[in-house]
Amino acid sequence: MSTIATNIAKVGARIREAAQAVTRDPDEVRLLAVSKTQPADAIRQASSAGLRDFGENYLQEALEKQSELADLPLTWHFIGPIQSNKTKAIAEHFDWVHSVDRLKIAQRLSDQRPASSAPLNICLQVNVSGEASKSGCSPHDVPELARAMAALPRLRLRGLMTIPEPTDDPAEQRAAFARLRSLQDELDLHLDTLSMGMSQDLEAAIAEGATWVRIGTALFGARAYPSQVATVDPSHE
Ligand SMILES: *Cc1c(COP(=O)(O)O)cnc(C)c1O
Repeated sequence: MSTIATNIAKVGARIREAAQAVTRDPDEVRLLAVSKTQPADAIRQASSAGLRDFGENYLQEALEKQSELADLPLTWHFIGPIQSNKTKAIAEHFDWVHSVDRLKIAQRLSDQRPASSAPLNICLQVNVSGEASKSGCSPHDVPELARAMAALPRLRLRGLMTIPEPTDDPAEQRAAFARLRSLQDELDLHLDTLSMGMSQDLEAAIAEGATWVRIGTALFGARAYPSQVATVDPSHE
């Protein structure tokens, strides 16, 4: 087995154990392979090992890999900060967008989603940790934003997404994910998705109801250049 196939098996086992620990059906938790900074060949290996869903943060890099891998039946998720001038390409080339945190971006994605494609699946990204440097709307704005986004014709609002402040304390990890889940529970919008949990905290996220875990490092190894997660979001400057 390749290293990637071995890692997929390990992550699969972590997901199953975490789900069983809270008597959830492991099939309710889907694995999004975060392939930012990884070469197309790594995605090809992950695809042969059975993965179909891939998450990318940087548009140009994603488009290059998509065209190299056009022969594969992959589902592409955009998970990075979104600047207005990128919405058209994102609406045209992705099936899901997990990182929508402003109504203006949602409106542009809806307007620019091609008529020939199914409605674009989106998640509203929420900042549950309250740090100024992070992406995501304020928890206070979730009800109004979610209602407005759910009404856009070419989008399908599926649920909420978050990237909490990293911590090694499992209780703190769970508290942040529980906040996202309770925000979702308060909405009356029939949402079916909670996008939360990464390599370090997927167990806590699954315990609190994650339906997508977004996993990079545990599948592909360390990235050559640092993730955009911890940096200032240029679209908010
Ligand atoms: C990079 C990234 C991940 C994956 O993080 P790992 O710690 O490598 O698993 C998940 N979600 C988002 C939004 C990311 O940018």
